[in-house]
Amino acid sequence: AQPVVAVVGRPNVGKSTLVNRLLGRRQAVVKDTPGVTRDRVSYDAVWSGRGFTVVDTGGWDPDAEGVYASVTAQAEMAMSTADAILLVVDANVGVSVTDEAVAKVLRRSDRPVLVVANKVDNQAAEAQVAELWSLGLGEPYPVSALHGRGSGDLLDEMLRRL
Ligand code: GDP
Ligand code: MG
Repeated sequence: AQPVVAVVGRPNVGKSTLVNRLLGRRQAVVKDTPGVTRDRVSYDAVWSGRGFTVVDTGGWDPDAEGVYASVTAQAEMAMSTADAILLVVDANVGVSVTDEAVAKVLRRSDRPVLVVANKVDNQAAEAQVAELWSLGLGEPYPVSALHGRGSGDLLDEMLRRL
């Protein structure tokens, strides 16, 4: 079976947009309304001739549990089912309390975890990226899931770690 990559993070940080970008086509559901993705969905993707499965964990977007509990549960699930995890953070918002809680869970992971600094749409936004080192998960990878900026470098690094 091919490796599984789980995409986790707070609602509205761009998880589904990133999944679409990694797939190179539009398939995951993206909406401006936080929490719109109700199901955990897997998609098959290929990069540099290597196949992998991407899991959009939007199914743990907040419900009665609240954001904190649902995103933490999402991270626990990813750690038990995925071969690598992409923690998506909105670089324009910076590190939130929820991001810190999820990072704390993911620091226990024995699988590779990459911090994705999303919404870095231009050079000016790069200035926000270094703050994400504070999550304690290594180098943050700046991308614009919306425009594709940095996504090739992210995919290269992800496959190198798998
Ligand atoms: P999810 O809840 O984490 O799955 O987030 P979505 O993928 O549904 O995206 C939430 C919102 O952020 C949508 O309006 C997206 O268009 C927007 N978004 C996602 N990625 C980017 C990005 O790289 N740059 C900008 N400017 N907006 C983005
Ligand atoms: Mg989503």
